[in-house]
This record gives sequence, structure tokens and C-alpha cells, in this order.
Amino acid sequence: MDKIGIKDLTKTELEAKLKALGAEGYRAKQIFRWLYKVGVKSFDEMADIPDSLRHTLKTSFHITHPVLLDSKSSKSDRTTKYLLKLEDGNTIETVFLSESDRATMCLSTQVGCKFSCSFCASAPFGFVRNLKVSEILDEALFIKMKNPQVPITNLVFMGIGEPLDNYDNVLRAIRLFNDPDAFNIGARRITISTCGIIPGIKKLEKEGLQIELSVSLHSADDTLRSKLVPINKRYPVKELMAACKEYTEQTNRVITFEYILIKGANASSEDALKISKLLKGVKCKVNTIAYNSIRIKDYTNPSQTDIRNFIKILKDGGVNVTHRKSKGEDIDAGCGQLRISRL
Ligand code: SF4
Repeated sequence: MDKIGIKDLTKTELEAKLKALGAEGYRAKQIFRWLYKVGVKSFDEMADIPDSLRHTLKTSFHITHPVLLDSKSSKSDRTTKYLLKLEDGNTIETVFLSESDRATMCLSTQVGCKFSCSFCASAPFGFVRNLKVSEILDEALFIKMKNPQVPITNLVFMGIGEPLDNYDNVLRAIRLFNDPDAFNIGARRITISTCGIIPGIKKLEKEGLQIELSVSLHSADDTLRSKLVPINKRYPVKELMAACKEYTEQTNRVITFEYILIKGANASSEDALKISKLLKGVKCKVNTIAYNSIRIKDYTNPSQTDIRNFIKILKDGGVNVTHRKSKGEDIDAGCGQLRISRL
């Protein structure tokens, strides 16, 4: 019989399994603390668990942990990127961004990605598989153990993969991140970033979670957006905006639209005017970020003048916009870039 990955279980599920094995349910809380607070890699390290139960745990469950293949730390900011090998040999990336008031983990949700966004380093290598709950948690645990001096405050699903395409595992992982005996990260500090999977957005609005939703917009024009984010052919701008509006009405939460400014593609005054018109009356904010050149693409970064002009037009149109500085530019910190250099 295959052993169960113990980090794939919620605390309630682990309690039920322990009871079925003849152990006390309260042991689940102790085990959780060993796994997620201390970060043990074996049942033998669980000092307050009796020997007999440790033996039972070893025969029924296993503890996964990824192997570090590579890492890069930025010299210009406190961004570190890790390339991790999973148990089946596949690789994923995870990023840690430390700022003065927050420390954020940027997690992957899939090995590779199906969605082929034209500016993305993950896209050319296709999709392999979804990450399991335990593998998503392991990314966070890995970062936490590597950076014990910095309490992790925020978590974003913006690494490799589309989180709403691995919906059930991402939602289970979020509930585990919330658990006080695991990571104790509040839902409001967790962001799901999607390229615009409408059925996932509609499902998410019914979950009753206070998480942040961020949508990669990148253009108000269907022809251009379909080039940048090909899933737009299936979920075009008008339908996406209707789903986003419905999400804000149902959840009473502000939605964030991500906009990568790419010179010669979507960073003109005309593009800005279209966005400002599209977002009129939507409860939202916009994050612009300058394209962070990656070696496999021809796109280029916009100039400071292009950026200022774009933002001014949005602000003049009443849009709440913030320009974010790219993190880790010197270490290829965009999603998928370290994995590319290995592949
Ligand atoms: S940007 Fe996100 S959704 Fe698009 S290809 Fe890259 S990983 Fe996939």
C-alpha cells in the first residue's frame, strides 16, 4: 500500500486517520506543529510523540521535502529565488521577497504551464502536471526554514503555473496556510493571481474566503490580449470583466489587475486610454510593472517616460494605479527563468 503524504492532509483529516489507526485525535495538532513550525523531515524527530505512534506513522505516512538544486540572490534587493527538485525529479521555482515591512513567498502551483502567455518564461516548456498540496506547502516550508530570522507575512500564487487550473489543491493549501498550527497566514495576506480563468473566478467567489484576487489583464483589446495571454480567445475581455465585476459584488472585495508594460506592444497612450475606459466603475486597483526582459523573448522594457505617461492617463481617468518596481532583475526573478536556465 502506498504511504499517504502527511502534508496532503488537513488537520481534521489527519485526526480522523489517527483515530482509525487507534491513536488519539489530539496528536494531529502536535504532529502539525512538528511539521510546520519546526519543519522536521522525519517522524523520529517528533520528540513528544510516543515510540509506538511514531512507528505507526512511519508505516502509514511519509514526509515529503524538496531538494535544492540552485538558488540566486539579488544584489540590488532582498529577493532570492530557489530551484527545487520534487520527489519525481520534476523541478519548480519559488521566490522569497523580503522588504522592510513584509516578507512574501511567491509560490508555483504546477510543473510547467498550459497557458502560453507570450511574455512568460514558463510557457515554452509546456505543462507537466499539477502540484500536490504537500508540494505547494513544501515550497513555503522550504523558504521558511531557509530564512528563519524573517517572519513570512504574505503569500502570492504567482510562480509557475495557473493556480485556478489546479483549483482544489490550491484551495486546500490555502486552508492549511491559514491553520494556526501550520503557517497561520491570514487569508487577507494571500493572493491568487490568474490569467483570467472565468470558471475558476466564479467558483472562488462562492468560497467565502477573504483572499486577494489578482487578474493578469495586460490589454483591453481582444486582439492584442489574445496575443499576450492566449486564453483570452476562450475567455475574452468583455466576459472576463463581467466575471470580475460579479466577483467584486459577491465578495465585496477589490480586485487587482496586473499590467506588464511592454514597449511596442501595450504601453502606448492609446492602450492606457482603453484600459481607463474598460475599468470605469469597477471596484479595482491596477498594478503596472515594467517588462523584465528574459533571454527567450524579443520584447523590451518601456522607458521611464512611457511608464509615467501610461500611469498619468490611468490616474486622470480615475483609476487607482500603483507602479511596482521589478524585483530581482539581476537574478532572472520572473517566473520560470531559473528553471529555463537548467532546462
Ligand atoms: S504567466 Fe502564468 S499563466 Fe501565463 S504562461 Fe506564465 S505561468 Fe502560465
